[in-house]
Amino acid sequence: MTEVYNWQIKRNMSYPYEEKHPEWQFAAVFNINRCIACQTCTMACKSTWTFSKGQELMWWNNVETKPYGGYPQFWDIKLLKLLHDAHERQGKTMRWSENGEYSGMTIFEAAAKEKTRNGQSRVLGYLPDDREWLKPNIGEDVGQPDKTKKDRMGFVAEPVRLPEHKSFFFYMQRLCNHCTYPACLAACPRKAIYKREEDGVVLIDQERCRGYRKCVEACPYKKAMYNGQTKISEKCIACYPRLEGRDSHITPDGVPVETRCMASCVGKIRLQGLVRMNGDGSWAKDEENPLYWMVQKEQVALPLYPQFGTEPNIYYIPPRWAPRQYLRQMFGPGVERAIDRYTAPSRELMAILQLFRAQREIIFKFDIKKGPQIYEKQLTLSDGSKKVLVVYNDTAIGYNKEGKECVRVTVEEPIYERPAKHFNSI
Ligand code: SF4
Ligand code: SF4
Repeated sequence: MTEVYNWQIKRNMSYPYEEKHPEWQFAAVFNINRCIACQTCTMACKSTWTFSKGQELMWWNNVETKPYGGYPQFWDIKLLKLLHDAHERQGKTMRWSENGEYSGMTIFEAAAKEKTRNGQSRVLGYLPDDREWLKPNIGEDVGQPDKTKKDRMGFVAEPVRLPEHKSFFFYMQRLCNHCTYPACLAACPRKAIYKREEDGVVLIDQERCRGYRKCVEACPYKKAMYNGQTKISEKCIACYPRLEGRDSHITPDGVPVETRCMASCVGKIRLQGLVRMNGDGSWAKDEENPLYWMVQKEQVALPLYPQFGTEPNIYYIPPRWAPRQYLRQMFGPGVERAIDRYTAPSRELMAILQLFRAQREIIFKFDIKKGPQIYEKQLTLSDGSKKVLVVYNDTAIGYNKEGKECVRVTVEEPIYERPAKHFNSI
């Protein structure tokens, strides 16, 4: 066991593998509020990487409907239950303190305290059965009304209310988090999994893997998968040839470009990047990097189930209209703050939000050209306090790895009027 610092739970934790950090880390921010579950990302990934025999039910990227959907089915409910039961047996509680420190056990610490059902002692986990992998978005668009309140006709009478719907669902975009402390890597008895020094991408060495499925069992997000045809495990490779700028068709000048799922996102909910790391695994201060701004400076984007302890590197702007208690379980204690920041964004955040899916090249630096005020409104925040939102028609500018401008977009989208001669022409 190594003692490592996990900034997402604000404390040291034990990790059953040596500590090693890359120079750059693959990371992304997903704005859940904008996803329309079109599954274009899912299909872009599938048609690129998982179209072969044995990969029929394999979805490295999937978008599921929360709270009822999951791929594999009930993956998060099952893991939370395992973790909860381990806490009960150990007489502990899964708590977050006022200052955002998690005092419960991570999946590594829980496994160290007690062996898992099958005797594995490095990571608390489970192996889904084949049926659970059948559907990438089971329960699509299903929300749960309050069934106890019915009218005389037997219809559910409890209306959906603002600001928090009683009946709700939202879409959850999921892929491998290329974790800072990967559970898949820690669990592999063959040492077939490694984290690349140049970009933190977690890969399974297909030559070394013997298909023991320890990674499938250990990954709390269930993003390591077993191929029954080749009898070895596979996972998302973060489209690393694109990160390396090695695809000359799309990057003739060799700069890193976003992965297939990010670059194809119709809802413009994704912004992917590479963030510079310090030797101790913390993010190097870089306020010009849009991801650093959102994750570290404004903390508007949060990790998924940080209490698991793997320090995932995909961050989510939480949905505004889902019950806060549910979101706190999912994203930790920063939910209210993140939603308030998104509801009334700063001038910088408003500019960064325009850069989502506005280009293909990875943005390493953003800048703002200031424009005139175009909107003003008073808003109510989570604690009932008021804030005036002022919006400016600023221009957000993105720069690629070489420092060359790769995108320029204004907050107010330009309107083009169709000439009258084209009216009713179709
Ligand atoms: S999400 Fe799972 S498969 Fe991906 S790096 Fe983390 S533990 Fe490994
Ligand atoms: S492409 Fe974008 S909007 Fe469509 S499902 Fe994927 S993440 Fe959501």
